Amino acid sequence: METAIRGMKTPVIVIGGGWAGMTAARALALAGTAVVLIERNPYPGGRAFSFADSMTGRVLDNGQHVLLGCCTAMQTLIDDLGCHAAVRFQPALDLPVFFEDVWTRLYSHSGLHGPLHLLPGLLGYRALPFADRLRALSIGLRMRGQSGTQILDHQTFAGWLGAHHQSRIAIERLWDLVGVSVLNCRADRLSAEEALNAFRLGVLPSHRAARLGFFTRPLQDLADAMIADLLGQGVVVRLGSTVEAIEVDAGRVTGVVVNSAHIAARAVIAAVPHDGLQRLLPMTWARHAEFAAGLDFEWSGILNWYLLFQEPVWQGTVFAVADAINPFVFNRGAIFDPGGVDDGRLLGISVSDAPMAPGRMRAQLLDSLRATLERALPATRKTPLLGQRVVVQPHATFRASPGAGQARPRAHTELRGLYLAGDWTHTGWPASLEGAVRSGDLAAREVLTTESG
Ligand SMILES: Cc1cc2nc3c(=O)[nH]c(=O)nc-3n(C[C@H](O)[C@H](O)[C@H](O)COP(=O)(O)OP(=O)(O)OC[C@H]3O[C@@H](n4cnc5c(N)ncnc54)[C@H](O)[C@@H]3O)c2cc1C
Repeated sequence: METAIRGMKTPVIVIGGGWAGMTAARALALAGTAVVLIERNPYPGGRAFSFADSMTGRVLDNGQHVLLGCCTAMQTLIDDLGCHAAVRFQPALDLPVFFEDVWTRLYSHSGLHGPLHLLPGLLGYRALPFADRLRALSIGLRMRGQSGTQILDHQTFAGWLGAHHQSRIAIERLWDLVGVSVLNCRADRLSAEEALNAFRLGVLPSHRAARLGFFTRPLQDLADAMIADLLGQGVVVRLGSTVEAIEVDAGRVTGVVVNSAHIAARAVIAAVPHDGLQRLLPMTWARHAEFAAGLDFEWSGILNWYLLFQEPVWQGTVFAVADAINPFVFNRGAIFDPGGVDDGRLLGISVSDAPMAPGRMRAQLLDSLRATLERALPATRKTPLLGQRVVVQPHATFRASPGAGQARPRAHTELRGLYLAGDWTHTGWPASLEGAVRSGDLAAREVLTTESG
């Protein structure tokens, strides 16, 4: 059966209504292209979504999402949607760090240029012995000069750091503290090239690039605003529809199959996760190296634990813990509504690259997080909990293991009419909202240049 979209020229079809797919659809629509966006879930936003939680009685996100100041593509998009106030940035990086019952800070100095903005913060970073702070500083300054190479990509970040005189303690309490939160992968399993890229983009350039930005509204609000914008641009949006196959004839994509019906397309952008692409393609193309690459990627999980206390237990916004787990703790109440009823009461603990096994291991992790929280915020010991929710996302981001940098496929593929987007594709950015948005823009640009005429 053949389905045409009524009154529409043969469209470009975008598969996937995460931030990569939605961005691609928007860029194409703004350029005057007919677009159909097809998303499997009944809601948009992909891996960045919210839900009404019965245990806390609050709308929670599947995980606390943070932007860095360097995430300019996502910020521009949010501004374009008229949602400027949906993200609040620190003036400069300021991250309290709890370490063995002592508080210290990682911060930027806004008066110092380039990587020097980190100098006072690193020198005063009490989680590290002084000699380690000096060694971290010297390597931080040299990181900028390291350029992308296959050799670096095949090395672990931990190996690279070790070769540059960084101790195990420095890796755990500094490099992993920052790296795990940005790349969702510990240094001993992370491509050195992917890590260096992330530090070059986000941490080293300036105090503005490194500052943290917090979403002040549920993530779903933003995704819904994006869909409203797409509908306004004339994009046909089909939520709750699964693409079963991408159809190919004589080496060219001709459309997709949804509900056993063929929908013709001028071109297709597949903005699905790395393990979702191959099964959509005919066998001959599925084996092709650029489409099979994603199958070699592993998932890395993130665990979030939301806690609603009866009384306020803390007045800050965020802190990290310099230990083997490197959790980040957020005052979600303050982020959403400073001084409001949940300020200091609704906290979120986020563990990136978290051990995912359920049962005893999970219970041990939660016990250890609770013990750390009680040491860092003594008021949590005695204040009753009104509700809590653990959100486990085993498929949070692809793991940027050694070799992944070279394997990430580009937007333009060898199969005519097929383009790729998604946080795992070759953007030069870590798997993140920023990476997803940039990948969507890149794919749309490829379609517009290749398919014009
Ligand atoms: C707990 C957690 C915390 C995170 N924290 C941060 C953070 O702090 N900062 C940050 O920047 N990023 C963070 N991320 C990562 C960020 O959410 C993702 O990188 C980003 O959302 C990926 O977007 P995407 O569009 O590439 O992929 P996705 O969001 O996965 O979108 C792909 C979409 O394709 C759809 N799809 C798949 N197959 C089909 C099909 N056959 N037919 C139709 N539709 C299909 C899926 O349903 C999905 O909606 C976090 C992620 C998680 C899970």
